[in-house]
Amino acid sequence: MSEPLDKEFFLDADALRHAVTLMGQHFSSDSRVAIPLRLPEQGLGSLEAMERLAPTVLGGAAHLGSATAFAHKDPPTPWVTWATTLWNASLNQNLLHPATAPVARQLEETVVQWLCPYFGMHGGHMTPGSSAANLTALWAARECAGVKEVIASEAAHLSIKKSAHILGLSFRTVKVDAVGAISRHDLPNDLSRAALVLTSGTTSVGALDSLELIGRAAWTHVDAAWGGPLRLTRHANLLANIERADSVAVSSHKWLFQPKESALIMFQNASKAHEAISFGGSYLTEPNIGLLGSHGASAIPLLAMLWSWGREGIAKRIEHCMGLADTLALQLGHDPRVVLFAPPQTGIVVWRPRTAPSIEYVLKHLPAGIASTVTLGDEKWIRHTAANPNADIALILDEINQVLDHT
Ligand SMILES: *Cc1c(COP(=O)(O)O)cnc(C)c1O
Repeated sequence: MSEPLDKEFFLDADALRHAVTLMGQHFSSDSRVAIPLRLPEQGLGSLEAMERLAPTVLGGAAHLGSATAFAHKDPPTPWVTWATTLWNASLNQNLLHPATAPVARQLEETVVQWLCPYFGMHGGHMTPGSSAANLTALWAARECAGVKEVIASEAAHLSIKKSAHILGLSFRTVKVDAVGAISRHDLPNDLSRAALVLTSGTTSVGALDSLELIGRAAWTHVDAAWGGPLRLTRHANLLANIERADSVAVSSHKWLFQPKESALIMFQNASKAHEAISFGGSYLTEPNIGLLGSHGASAIPLLAMLWSWGREGIAKRIEHCMGLADTLALQLGHDPRVVLFAPPQTGIVVWRPRTAPSIEYVLKHLPAGIASTVTLGDEKWIRHTAANPNADIALILDEINQVLDHT
């Protein structure tokens, strides 16, 4: 007689329905259950483990889709991505091998093909984030264009400096102007051995580096981790000229509302770039492209959402987010108690109290999730990021007013 099948590996629709039901419950913070500090010898069973985990995992999480969530670049995710992520987990395709992901590999190519035209790129692949996408791009720049150094503004994301470090390239920063974009007058004259990184939507203030600078360096990479999805909207012109870049990074787990980890690296000359960053192996039927070995089908939730909403549906939500940031900035800009850093360029609002109270006081007294802080020069500022289409600006302003009033 053969062993009975292990049911844990089969679909149990009732158990999964129960897991979904738990998602809809509201757990208070005192309903959290202690998690054992050591690996238990005996298991609880899957249903009991889910019951115990739910109050902590679901109740203890930051709620990125709440009416006052307006702090970070992490969006709420649409339910179609939850469903497809569940499919992904159950199928566990490995995109490293065609045999273990016959369809998933193709669907990643489809998503890349759908998105590349908005950036004037001609292929690429998905990575677990733009940190990895930026590293991949600069790796390709080193191999294809022989660059020796990386040049970026002082507001570039830390992953640029990190990538230069990993790749053994030198790293130089260029000053930023009054609104936080790269100061073109401070660029070195000779960029013939440099990869120039331009940021479309800086991490701190959402500034847009001039893409007119593309073409001056041996390789130009556009870090559009945050601002890239604007290309699908009526704000596409904010990133005009991006189609002349050698490579573009976009984080789909930011303004394309994807669950982590999801991003794209796209190339002008994708076949050349991919060849330069590919390795074969005796156990591989196809060369392994890029940084990752085994990796999953993050393209599938992205494809599901893009197909569900279409370009119009994406545009509508991002444009709405841009509008929310504009509304907040307009109100804050009219408030004599407030200094606005600059009108928001890519849905990021940065301000500080003109005199009192301190930034620390404001942050401490605002409900969690409304605001974050950034340091510009040696000044601290409050920052809001419009990644949540369901943010309620009236509520958010109410909270800000209450804090400013109590001083
Ligand atoms: C978020 C961000 C990154 C890093 O992307 P991850 O997806 O978090 O790895 C890089 N550059 C910019 C401008 C970003 O905003």
